[in-house]
Amino acid sequence: MIIIMLGAQGTGKGTVAGLLSEKLGIPQISTGDIFRKNIKEETELGIEANKYMSKGMLVPDDITVPMVAKRLEMDDVVDGAILDGFPRTIEQAKKFDEMLAAKGKKVDLVVNLTTPRDEIIERILTRRVCSNQECKATYNLIMHPPKKDGICDKCGAKLVQREDDSDESAINKRLEIYDVQTSPLVEYYEKRNVLRKEEISSRINRLGDKVASDLIEYIKESV
Ligand code: AMP
Repeated sequence: MIIIMLGAQGTGKGTVAGLLSEKLGIPQISTGDIFRKNIKEETELGIEANKYMSKGMLVPDDITVPMVAKRLEMDDVVDGAILDGFPRTIEQAKKFDEMLAAKGKKVDLVVNLTTPRDEIIERILTRRVCSNQECKATYNLIMHPPKKDGICDKCGAKLVQREDDSDESAINKRLEIYDVQTSPLVEYYEKRNVLRKEEISSRINRLGDKVASDLIEYIKESV
């Protein structure tokens, strides 16, 4: 099963994708995480991607698309995957369709997560991530703080703030890009009847756990 998580940065795509991945036993593929790993390891791809990421811009397709195609070749994707952060443009969605068709697969479900904009900004500024690339657990200083200040509950590594999360102008740039380039994907997938909308917000007390468990129910019944 191929599931795509849509939603602006800070809506909780990564959290929901991680929970679905655990429950469904298929990998979460986060393009942002793959880029960050490459940046940390100072690979050629990482150095190139960082030129765009640090400014809150999308990494060009000639870097992103082959990277995803390569990831889809790996053995753990045989039964499906949860895409978190890809596709991000109509062009990428079309290329993704082609990649899947060549493997006899298709997009089965697209989840569109929505959160009020002011809550998103607050959430991004208070987000902390585990510095251990094998763990990558995500926390929020207000909604989901670690038990011990600055330390990951799961693996004990240091928690850090993503470079692009600390700069408010880069955050706004990313949200602007989302509105212009990524939100048209909602209509793209709506037309194919694979889109499911989910509101995720602390104001209605509906966070990642609840959204993920509702989605699992839905998947069992309908997909
Ligand atoms: P994320 O972790 O999904 O918030 O992504 C962080 C950053 O990685 C984005 O702001 C982009 O610079 C880059 N990125 C991630 N996924 C893509 C993609 N599908 N296309 C282009 N750039 C991406």
